[in-house]
Amino acid sequence: MKPKVIKKILIANRGEIALRIHRSASEMGIQTVAIFSDADRRAPHVLQANEAYSLNGNLSKDTYLDIKKIIDIAHASHCDAIHPGYGFLSENPDFVDATTSAGLIFIGPSSAAMRSMGGKTGARELMAKANVPIIPGTTYPLKDFTEAAKVAKSIGYPILIKAVHGGGGKGMRKVDEVGELEQSFSQAKSESKSSFGSESVFIEKYLQNPRHIEIQILADMHGNVIYLGERECSVQRRHQKVVEECPSSLLTPDIRKRMGEAAVNAVQKCGYVNAGTVEFLMDSDKSFYFLEMNTRLQVEHPVTEMVFGLDLVKAQIRIAQGEELSLTQEQVVPRGHAIECRIYAEDPLEGFIPSTGRVEDYMPSEGYGIRHDSGIMRGSEIVHFYDPLLSKLVVWGADRSESIRKMKRALEEFKISGVSTTIPFCAFVISHPKFIEGEYDIHFVEKYYHPDKLIRSEEEELIASLAAASMHNWDSGKGKEMREHSISSGNWKNKRFDE
Ligand code: ADP
Repeated sequence: MKPKVIKKILIANRGEIALRIHRSASEMGIQTVAIFSDADRRAPHVLQANEAYSLNGNLSKDTYLDIKKIIDIAHASHCDAIHPGYGFLSENPDFVDATTSAGLIFIGPSSAAMRSMGGKTGARELMAKANVPIIPGTTYPLKDFTEAAKVAKSIGYPILIKAVHGGGGKGMRKVDEVGELEQSFSQAKSESKSSFGSESVFIEKYLQNPRHIEIQILADMHGNVIYLGERECSVQRRHQKVVEECPSSLLTPDIRKRMGEAAVNAVQKCGYVNAGTVEFLMDSDKSFYFLEMNTRLQVEHPVTEMVFGLDLVKAQIRIAQGEELSLTQEQVVPRGHAIECRIYAEDPLEGFIPSTGRVEDYMPSEGYGIRHDSGIMRGSEIVHFYDPLLSKLVVWGADRSESIRKMKRALEEFKISGVSTTIPFCAFVISHPKFIEGEYDIHFVEKYYHPDKLIRSEEEELIASLAAASMHNWDSGKGKEMREHSISSGNWKNKRFDE
């Protein structure tokens, strides 16, 4: 098969990921087309792309989820491919079909592979057939309560009732004992209907203290599949990842190999092509079970890029052009350790409520081993229409402890005002002894985090810096600068003393 050459890509997304895709495309000599909602008119992803087109509107359904508008823009701007990023339409097989029917290349898997991994029960059935271990439970949607009761009894409580089409950490209900089952079952069904448009639910055994570990894969059109190590994503809030690292401190080379091979097997069974992630839960005895497959680029992909020294977006584009993978499994060599902190416009002191407003001061951290994938700049308006992820702070260190120290320093350096952010929360995670020891599971945040911890550490920091400032003044006279943080507002300013 002769590779096609992609010359112009429409990036069907916004924020940091749209900009991140633009950068790789641009380095490959490929033109990019951005799309934007009214609120995003002056966003960095729009400013940087070679061309940009309005989607007219703000609601996701009228903009970044509107298949027809997006395909029309791709045509009008003479694109030959679409990159969906993550979220929005990235896992919608109808969007893949619309893209390919319009004669454009979809930079991602086929709609068939996406469909086979899209529903959680179908994916579980496929994995069970491929001998990939799955969490005990059903591989089909439950007919009724009687069936649910029978399954729950056979696998034993606690169980999870999950929406077949759930996502984003939503649509899960833990049931501790038989008395709670009937009510939970009917609530789970109606929640699933209202959030995901389908009443289909299934049951999984609830694992008490697992870790979330996922394997990155790359598969080309020529049957080559490789895995690029794992990402540890157990630091989660409401089942959503907040801090990720590569490699996991828990895996031995043997478990890594077995998980990698299970992921490759999973991918081969559904004829998957392009980049994808096979997610697993690992129990306390280190048994691992297939959780789901994400048929797209993940938010946390940069930690893999930092450790394996390759650009996953470029790899996706090359695969979509029909090129063979440039690496064999033997050539995949990890180096060092990387951590990512997701910086959200949320207030960690107020139950993580989304924070909106204009970004005033903005000074991201810099220096050796620091990567900052951001979708904002000074003056950006943070609105409530979309996911509150502002940017991703990623660090690389020669080993895990250097990487932790670097992240701590990078978080201290990162200044933003005008909106509250999760920077102080990330600093709490990174500095926590259990995180430093690598001794954590999916309950880390609920077990150890309380907003008081931020206030207390802020007070301690203020006392320490006051003490340091007075020492300094005593030492060398007047005019020293002291930095004052205000965690609750996410603000910062430099304050001059003694003048
Ligand atoms: P989503 O598709 O909404 O992201 P997942 O099935 O991928 O949902 O699970 C998200 C998170 O929920 C997991 O990382 C884990 O923390 C928790 N979880 C999911 N299934 C189980 C389970 N069977 N037992 C315990 N925790 C689970």
